[in-house]
Amino acid sequence: MHTFTSIFLSFVAASVLMRLWLTYRQIRHIRAHEAQVPAAFAERIALPDHQRAANYSCSKLRFGRIMLAWETLWLLLWTIGGGLNLVDQWWLGFSNSPLMTGIAVIFSVMLLSSLLDLPFSLYQTFVIEERFGFNKTTLTTWIVDLLKTTLLIVLLGVPLIAAILWLMNQAGTYWWIYAWLLWMGFSLIMIWAYPAFIAPLFNKFSQLQDVDLKTRIEALLSRCGFQSRGVFVVDGSRRSAHGNAYFTGFGKNKRIVFYDTLLDSLSTDEVEAVLAHELGHFKRKHIAKSLLLSSVISAIGFAVLAWLMDSDWFYAALGVQTASTHAALLLFMMIMPAFTYFISPVFSALSRKHEFEADEFAHSNSDYRALISALVNMYRDNASTLTPDPLHSMFYDSHPPASIRINHLQQIASSGLSG
Ligand SMILES: [Zn+2]
Repeated sequence: MHTFTSIFLSFVAASVLMRLWLTYRQIRHIRAHEAQVPAAFAERIALPDHQRAANYSCSKLRFGRIMLAWETLWLLLWTIGGGLNLVDQWWLGFSNSPLMTGIAVIFSVMLLSSLLDLPFSLYQTFVIEERFGFNKTTLTTWIVDLLKTTLLIVLLGVPLIAAILWLMNQAGTYWWIYAWLLWMGFSLIMIWAYPAFIAPLFNKFSQLQDVDLKTRIEALLSRCGFQSRGVFVVDGSRRSAHGNAYFTGFGKNKRIVFYDTLLDSLSTDEVEAVLAHELGHFKRKHIAKSLLLSSVISAIGFAVLAWLMDSDWFYAALGVQTASTHAALLLFMMIMPAFTYFISPVFSALSRKHEFEADEFAHSNSDYRALISALVNMYRDNASTLTPDPLHSMFYDSHPPASIRINHLQQIASSGLSG
């Protein structure tokens, strides 16, 4: 067996075992704490809600385990199983333009992969989410969404992939620097265009109607020096009962978006506090920082791809007969997650750090007690677990566990610090 085949298989095995172990720990931890609502939440969350959250979390975890098995099976079939090679050889028989063959192979594999994942997506929405009362979408909406997404991927993805393949073929030794610049430019345009042009294809965004709330919000925005197209409400309730709020875009297109489902369950004080938290992300430049980090990572990624592309063993070790730019690109995208999995806790930790900073900002600019109360509401209504396994949380969670986050807010309040 090729050395790199063994390395690849070791990483796949190690990442799968690590995932299974963390899932096992998480389920065990949630089950061990499901009989009683943690003391800090006992006043606000009823035992049946706590147990619903435990059951919901465990259902998702068990489902995730089946999906992991399916994805791992296909990763192996595509690579050392020769699946990618089969598609590649088939298209090579039709066309002698490397660019056209490349695009055809990449989109065939992407199409097949997403078809293979469809049953899981259906099950997640119409069985798991449905069982816990979260699903509000219909099969028609679901299919229309799928068609729109596919169309978007084709319209945006074909030119992008074509340009990257062209650079890989034609731009010489330093192609990866040009490809990286192209990729960063594309990402920036997408961040800018997403809130204004893409998200509205799927949802209705409207200006906040509630006059009282609007006055409070505008006061907060001007107090924090935030200029934008305003605060928007999205009709998330069309698809799901889950509620959220987020900050997106940059420049004039930046906006804060509240799910209608969330607004329905929060008081004016709570909405103001959640908004202050979102403004904290903006004021502390979290989008810019994440973008900077991802630009460094993608530069490394393209440099590694440039090296692998010129190494014959890379193709041979992963079941591909004919070296080509598109095979290198596809293999790279397929196998990378098995390697990067082990550095994912770094990104989770960074994200949690940003959450703490945004909470500090919210504490300085609104009522922190209203933020705590909003958080408890959101945990209850989204059936998120209050008792995650610490290691599982450290590895995956983009937000600190509820109890730690609330403690942190109470601590900054009692120490009189202002963020
Ligand atoms: Zn946040």
